[in-house]
Amino acid sequence: MALLSITEARTRILAQFKPVASETIPLVKSANRILAMDIVAADDLPLFDNSSMDGFALRAADSSNAAPASPLTLNVVADIPAGSHPTISLAPGEAARIMTGAQLPAGADAVVPVEDTDFNNRDAGSTAPTQIQIAKPLKSGENVRPRGMDVHAGDIVLHKGHRINPQMAGILAMLGFSNIEVHKRPRVALLSSGDELLEVNAPLESGKIRDSNSYMLAALIESTNAEVLRLGVAKDTRDSVKNLIEQAIQQNVDLIISSAGVSVGAFDYVKDVVESNGTLDFWRVNMRPGKPVAFGNYKNIPFIGLPGNPVSAFVGFEVFVRDTIGRLSGISDGSRRTVRVRCAEEILSDGRESYLRAVIHEEDGVNVAKLTGHQGSGNLLSLVQADALLIIPAGVKCVPAGQEVSAWLL
Ligand code: AMP
Ligand code: MG
Repeated sequence: MALLSITEARTRILAQFKPVASETIPLVKSANRILAMDIVAADDLPLFDNSSMDGFALRAADSSNAAPASPLTLNVVADIPAGSHPTISLAPGEAARIMTGAQLPAGADAVVPVEDTDFNNRDAGSTAPTQIQIAKPLKSGENVRPRGMDVHAGDIVLHKGHRINPQMAGILAMLGFSNIEVHKRPRVALLSSGDELLEVNAPLESGKIRDSNSYMLAALIESTNAEVLRLGVAKDTRDSVKNLIEQAIQQNVDLIISSAGVSVGAFDYVKDVVESNGTLDFWRVNMRPGKPVAFGNYKNIPFIGLPGNPVSAFVGFEVFVRDTIGRLSGISDGSRRTVRVRCAEEILSDGRESYLRAVIHEEDGVNVAKLTGHQGSGNLLSLVQADALLIIPAGVKCVPAGQEVSAWLL
């Protein structure tokens, strides 16, 4: 099988996925879920003309000649707390005390803040004065938040396919959506494979290592807000690998992710097991780290086999799995943001598309990237220290110091 480029491999993978079904859930549970409906406003926002200050509502035209030498005196005819419905209509020469967020009375078109009047009593419980004086003119609309300023009824405020963030939860509440339709959380099964792997709390044995991938990958899957089903560790035998993958099949998952066992080692059974129970589309990609990445399906359930080396597993996840889960989740625009960074040092590569661990700091307004520690695919510490992955394109063998490359922020 030929070595695929990352782009080709991603295209082949993503083409196999469509969003999972949707469900209706309470707004209070909606953070981080993916909208499965366009949100059309039934109301204007703000709902009504209201004051943005504690002060006095007035007719701006009354105030045109107000000046320190000739202050304007207005009769205060009403007191309007937030939440009340003003029934009065201001006549010329009249004002109404009004609180922030309270509805403007008819006739009023501006609010003078209390601190710009001669009325000094701002204590809670204070009664409104009978008159106020102001010493400068107000413009029509000043300190008023007009109805419909942000949203008009009928506007599409949020589009399906977007992840609900806290701000969106707020506007959904403003618009009265107590229940919303979101995509279900995809179910992702996760397994490790390797005779060398021990549970984290097991006593160390000579020649064995702790299974770190399943913790890192579970955390990565959770960071997409998918549900993760941790299946544990398969031994390096066909039966053990098959038994574990079968468990995933029993649990109705949307995707199976494994780490290790997809290379060319004598004990790498994972891709064999997938191939003999489904199809293997590819198992190598022209990238570094992480060349052994397998994609196929096991009994019609999509399967992505990530490499065993921890940094390769991480990079493989970011390059292939994050957007795949995004597609399953119903995200409409999963494209990742890259930033341009200047390399502090010369970077040598081997011509494969490479993802290198780096820290980024700002120097004279420019983002400068420095590689962190050992860049081997087993050196997890340098990934822990990194805050970005530098992307060295395929075909490039040397990036001179001072040149810019693209980077993903971690
Ligand atoms: P393999 O793909 O099975 O050849 O494994 C490649 C490398 O990754 C080896 O050094 C393995 O010990 C290591 N490895 C495999 N699985 C894990 C895991 N779950 N956690 C940490 N390292 C692993
Ligand atoms: Mg192995």
